[in-house]
Amino acid sequence: MIKINTSHILPDTPFLLEGTESSDILELLPDADPPLAPAGDIAYRLSAVMAGADLIVTGTASVPLATVCARCLDDIRVVISVRDLCLHFEKVRDLEVDLTDDVREELLLAVPSCFYCSPDCKGICPVCGTNLNHASCACDRQQAEPEPDDAPSPWDQLDALNLSPKKPAEKKGAKKPAPASPAVKKTADKKAAVRKPAEEKGAKKPAASPAEKKSPGKKSPKK
Ligand SMILES: [Zn+2]
Ligand SMILES: [Zn+2]
Repeated sequence: MIKINTSHILPDTPFLLEGTESSDILELLPDADPPLAPAGDIAYRLSAVMAGADLIVTGTASVPLATVCARCLDDIRVVISVRDLCLHFEKVRDLEVDLTDDVREELLLAVPSCFYCSPDCKGICPVCGTNLNHASCACDRQQAEPEPDDAPSPWDQLDALNLSPKKPAEKKGAKKPAPASPAVKKTADKKAAVRKPAEEKGAKKPAASPAEKKSPGKKSPKK
């Protein structure tokens, strides 16, 4: 546990807190990808000051970890370090403050998503699997590269689709007749012309089925 008793911090004098902590507090998952295992203790060097009743802690923390290179898969040891650690605790005068979780969090946030044995790691040969940092091979690695194939692209099929509407321009203003066969439509229009204009709008409702249109004089069975 990394703890500070704020009653020990003198005014205007940074309180130094230095030591090591078991890296077990990181609670690294055993099946992490890439694999990450503690390779030593967490080392911290912290400076604590009070600002009124608040505690401000700055400093550094680091931990060595064992992992693998993302390119050549060699086992490597890396050091995760936080150089600009800065923690703030409100209203903690004369209290014991546990910094463990905060230091843990800062270290975990500093862990990158992958590691390399060196910035110019050559990786492994995609053909024979040789680690090219340690040996060379005679493989033709150009051949192993996926060739630009001349198989038809799936987009070609989309291009071949004819998505243009069958009747391009039937829209005329707000007039929106029901989709009906020309014959039925003609009948409906004829009847509508005979009837009063007020009813015309009703007859053109899209919900009207051809059967209803053919016998507009019949009263509806309801009522
Ligand atoms: Zn490597
Ligand atoms: Zn090879």
